Amino acid sequence: MEFMKDPVEPEPSLSFSSSSENFDRDRHVRFLQMMYQLLPSVYQSEEINRLTLAYFIISGLDILGALDRVDKDAVVGWVLSLQVHPGNKADLNNGQFYGFHGSRTSQFPPDHNGVLIHNNSHLASTYSALAILKIVGYKMCNIDSESILKSMRNLQQPDGSFMPIHTGAEMDLRFIYCAAAICSMLENWIGMDKEKAKEYILRCQSYDGGFGLTPGSESHGGATYCAVASLRLMGFIEDDILSIGAPSSIIDVPLLLDWIMQRQGKDGGIQGRPNKASDTCYAFWIGAVLRILGGYNFLDKKALCVFLLTCQYEYGGFSKFPGQFPDLYHSYYGFTAFSLLEERGLHPLCVELGITDLAAT
Ligand SMILES: [Zn+2]
Repeated sequence: MEFMKDPVEPEPSLSFSSSSENFDRDRHVRFLQMMYQLLPSVYQSEEINRLTLAYFIISGLDILGALDRVDKDAVVGWVLSLQVHPGNKADLNNGQFYGFHGSRTSQFPPDHNGVLIHNNSHLASTYSALAILKIVGYKMCNIDSESILKSMRNLQQPDGSFMPIHTGAEMDLRFIYCAAAICSMLENWIGMDKEKAKEYILRCQSYDGGFGLTPGSESHGGATYCAVASLRLMGFIEDDILSIGAPSSIIDVPLLLDWIMQRQGKDGGIQGRPNKASDTCYAFWIGAVLRILGGYNFLDKKALCVFLLTCQYEYGGFSKFPGQFPDLYHSYYGFTAFSLLEERGLHPLCVELGITDLAAT
C-alpha cells in the first residue's frame, strides 16, 4: 500500500536563508526535535496539557517522516504512567472517569482544604495519550481499555454530549469527538451511546450549514470538524459522501458544503467563521471536513499553499497569522495541512483520527 512506503527524503538545503517558497521539512523536523527535548518557558502555563503538547510533537514528527527521532520506549513508559486505574471493578460505577491525566502536575493536586485529589483524568488527555501510543506502535490490546471505556460512559449526558472530566466542565462537540476517537482507537464502542451522540451532533448543525459547538450556537470550523469526523468514526456517514449521493445523508450536505466553501479567503487562507482572518489551523479543520466529504479538490490548493508559506517561520514551525512567531499548535496544523496538500515526503493522514494513516492501521 502507498502509505507503507518510506517518505521520500528531500534534497538537503544548500542555503540558510528563510525559504518562503517551499515547505522546509528539514527545519520543521529540527523545530520539533527542539520541542521534544525541552519545551520553551512560554509553555509553562500549558503544563496541565503536556500530553496534548507531546501529541503535537510526536504526531508532527510522524507526519514529517521523522519518527526515528523519538525514544519510543521512553514515550510509552511516560504516557502509561499518566493513566489512572480504579481500585477495583466496582469503582467503574462510582461516576469517575479512569482515563489519563494531562501531566504529572495534574496527577495529585490538592483541593482548597489541602486534600489530595487523585483523579483528574480528562477526555482530551486520554485522546492524546492513545494517539501517541498508536503512533509509536504500542500494542493497544495491552491497555486497560475496559476501565477507560466503562467509566467513560459516566461522562455522557442524557442529551448525548460529554463532560470532559467527571468533576464537571463545559459539554460540547469537542468531547463527543474525543470519546468517538477513543472508542475507535480502542476498537470498542461500549464507551458511549452512539445514537444519543448522533442526535446531539445533528442538533448542532446550524441554519447556515456549519456546526456550532452546542445546539443553536454559531457555526465554527473546529466544531464542524468535530461533528463530521465523529459521524464518520461512528459509521453514520460514508467517506466521499459527495460522490455517492449526498441527499440520503443524515446531515444537510449541500448546505454544509455551501458554508465550507465560503471559508477560503482572497488571500488563499482559510478562516474558522465569517468575518475572521485566515488562520493556519483552519487549513486542517476545514480541509479535513472537505477530505471526508470527498470535496478537497474544491479548494484553491495553490492559493492555500501560498498563504500557508507566509506563516512558515524561517527556523521551522508555523504561526497562526503571517509573519508571527510559531507555536506548537499552529505548527502541527501547518504540517497536517501540507500533508493534505500532498507535500512530498509527508505521510498521508487519517483525518478523522488526527494521526497518520500508518499509525491508524
Ligand atoms: Zn488557529
